[in-house]
Amino acid sequence: MMDDLDTQDVRELKGVGNAMAEKLAKLHINTVQDLLFHLPIRYQDRTRVVPIGQLRFGDEAVIEGVVTGCEIKMGKRRSLLCRMKDGTGTLYLRFFHFSAAQKKQLESGKKIRCFGEVRRGSTGFEMYHPEYKLIDEGSTLGESDQLTPIYPLTDGLTQPKIRQLCEQALERLTPYNLKEWLPDEIRQPFSLPNLADAIRFLHHPTTDANLEQLKAGAHPAQYRLSFEELMAHQLSLIGKKIKAKEDKAIQVTESGTLAQRLLSQLPFSPTNAQQRVFQDILHDLASGHPMLRLVQGDVGSGKTLVAALATAAVVQAGFQVAIMAPTEILAEQHLTNFTQWFTPLGLKVAWMAGKVKGKARESELADIASGAAQIVVGTHALFQESIVFDRLALAIIDEQHRFGVHQRMALREKGLKQGFQPHQLIMTATPIPRTLAMSAYADLDCSIIDELPPGRTPVNTIVVSDQRRGEVIERVKQGCQEGKQAYWVCTLIDESEALQCQAAEDTAILLQEQLSNLKIGLVHGRLKAQEKADIMARFKAGELQLLVATTVIEVGVDVPNASLMVIENPERLGLAQLHQLRGRVGRGQAASHCVLLYKAPLGEQGKARLSTMRETSDGFKIAEKDLELRGPGELLGTRQTGLWEFKVADLQRDKALLDDVQQAAVQLHQRYPERIPPILSRWLPDHARYLNV
Ligand code: ADP
Ligand code: MG
Repeated sequence: MMDDLDTQDVRELKGVGNAMAEKLAKLHINTVQDLLFHLPIRYQDRTRVVPIGQLRFGDEAVIEGVVTGCEIKMGKRRSLLCRMKDGTGTLYLRFFHFSAAQKKQLESGKKIRCFGEVRRGSTGFEMYHPEYKLIDEGSTLGESDQLTPIYPLTDGLTQPKIRQLCEQALERLTPYNLKEWLPDEIRQPFSLPNLADAIRFLHHPTTDANLEQLKAGAHPAQYRLSFEELMAHQLSLIGKKIKAKEDKAIQVTESGTLAQRLLSQLPFSPTNAQQRVFQDILHDLASGHPMLRLVQGDVGSGKTLVAALATAAVVQAGFQVAIMAPTEILAEQHLTNFTQWFTPLGLKVAWMAGKVKGKARESELADIASGAAQIVVGTHALFQESIVFDRLALAIIDEQHRFGVHQRMALREKGLKQGFQPHQLIMTATPIPRTLAMSAYADLDCSIIDELPPGRTPVNTIVVSDQRRGEVIERVKQGCQEGKQAYWVCTLIDESEALQCQAAEDTAILLQEQLSNLKIGLVHGRLKAQEKADIMARFKAGELQLLVATTVIEVGVDVPNASLMVIENPERLGLAQLHQLRGRVGRGQAASHCVLLYKAPLGEQGKARLSTMRETSDGFKIAEKDLELRGPGELLGTRQTGLWEFKVADLQRDKALLDDVQQAAVQLHQRYPERIPPILSRWLPDHARYLNV
């Protein structure tokens, strides 16, 4: 009986010595099982000759025909252009590198067979540098009676070599040496084929396999593997959560009077949703284990107040709270709020950002270390080594998608030094559709603030072509003359930050020329933090009427008197980001407007996206649409990168599987916990690393 394939070293295979093993290791292939899971990225069909008349652009195909002309074209790049016909159509072969002999060989009347990718050339169908043979030579083009798998490669590894290794691995595959970890009761309801069959099929699809289906990743064999892989990720997150909950954290058993005193100072009362989420938090704080809670709430739903209430409960119990935001503008806003709310209650709020230097910094550090400051607000500067807390019991992280997992890890370590884990409250204004959230955030408990404070008037969104820019400027002028304030947002996605700032500067100059009576301010990422803060403060105080900005204002800016926003080139931004931007207006009593000033002409997708913005202001609906149009990677931001690297699965393509996967993961967890470690090590060899996050 042979050992399981996951214990067989690749060096047991013919043709694999140490050097080859090293190359394979670069592809994370160490065992024979790893080779089996190294699946083709695509397939070539060399099993039949395709009539030229049936080709489509992008196809890779074998074609056969007669050469009807061959000449050297000068053009931008000199090339040899050879025309061939097969009775159903014409196709051109193009060679940028060629010899005189080659030109001679391809003379009119010769019968040839070629394999290559069909491109759209100036002459219609073209193949660049196809593999080709003259047919009367009687040679083959590597024709095969099976679809030819194309594997991911690394330096020094060729397709024939990896194919030959995968062949050997398949020869070793028996029904017994590759463990099937999914029990029948999970496989059957979801119609998942057996693992060994799925693997065998994907390395060697039968000739009748539907190439289109394979290309789309929609074959049951592919589903089978994506399913298991997604489940592995899910199980790893669930495991992470369970593990984190085994840690000890300080217990806060009552909400205390401080929260009540805080509320009694405010001119409004919390919404039902804010209260409900605060109760969720109190429940976690009382558990004796670290809270890991994500609060999702649309822009303007009042997450800050919820954070403040949680802060009050923890401070009252005698501990410290840290509030962290991804940008200085946002952190400063929290500083203002928390100082305003807590100083009258006799508490000290410390401030820790990159710009706090010298003596001021020393003194803040001392207050944090001694516990004289019960609350610390800051940017990622809070993660730094030099900051030592006295008794940090709650870390609040705003806009979590901008912080990486590593930063949360750093925070956890600060907790370790003091002997107990801080509770974590993570707040995000980027709503994520439910299914995706359940998968991506399986390591966190989630609460949703699904209600806006009363009295908000929805923002009226208008989609306007840049050909009407003049009218828009006129409108800004009128609004400002009536005492309103406005934002003008310049976007340049995929361009360097320098270019973005330049664009904002140019726009500010142009607008100032056209609106000479208005006081115009400019903020962008290249200004010094102090300059930025000064301009924001002047805008907030009403000294500036129009603020020209890059997307740096996306988060955190709260100026209730600003009721008009113009966004240039909105078609370049994701919907979630547009929604964030738009959330900067509609915060006061006045009716607000958002003008999406797009660059004409707009494609179908662009139209669909901008009309979504016009039709709804519900962040969750917008997120659903964004998921549909752009895929989950964009929505998940940094969480996606690193944490979510899939071998087979594709979140966008396989999103329909997520519900089932989740259900299956819970089932496996309850009934077959012993199968979890082998599934994790099959799919996430590094999972131990994640478990410690
Ligand atoms: P976000 O969820 O986007 O962070 P904020 O916490 O900044 O929202 O709150 C947006 C605005 O709503 C702030 O001006 C805040 O003072 C106000 N606010 C918060 N909660 C309430 C409430 N229950 N009633 C009225 N206004 C509220
Ligand atoms: Mg906020």
